[in-house]
Formats: sequence, structure tokens, C-alpha cells
Amino acid sequence: MTNDKGRIVSCPTCKKANCYHTGNPFRPFCSERCRLIDLGEWADEERRISGQAIPPDYNDPEVDAY
Ligand SMILES: [Zn+2]
Repeated sequence: MTNDKGRIVSCPTCKKANCYHTGNPFRPFCSERCRLIDLGEWADEERRISGQAIPPDYNDPEVDAY
């Protein structure tokens, strides 16, 4: 059975059940806040990855033990 109001999905950010339908501009998120939080996490991760420029001659004793 389907209903024209969309289906219930859980918000990827807060896991709260919300309606996934065209009337929800933040889908699959429950709110703008959750959408922004998710986007922010993505941006953070990208920054972390590109910020991991380790100089080639950098000597970490922990890397030595590995
Ligand atoms: Zn949410």
C-alpha cells in the first residue's frame, strides 16, 4: 500500500522518523538543521583528508614501530 504523502524514512542525522516526499525540501532529512549538520560533517571530513599533508621526511617514531 502506498500513500501519496510519501513514505517514512529515518533522518540520516538524528534518526528521527520523517516523511520523504516532494513537500519536504530537506528530504531525506527531517529539518534544515539536520541537513546542514550532515553537510558540515562532509565538509569537515574533506578538510581533514586534504589537510593530512605529511612532509615526506617526517619521522614519526610510531610509524617506525609499524
Ligand atoms: Zn533529523
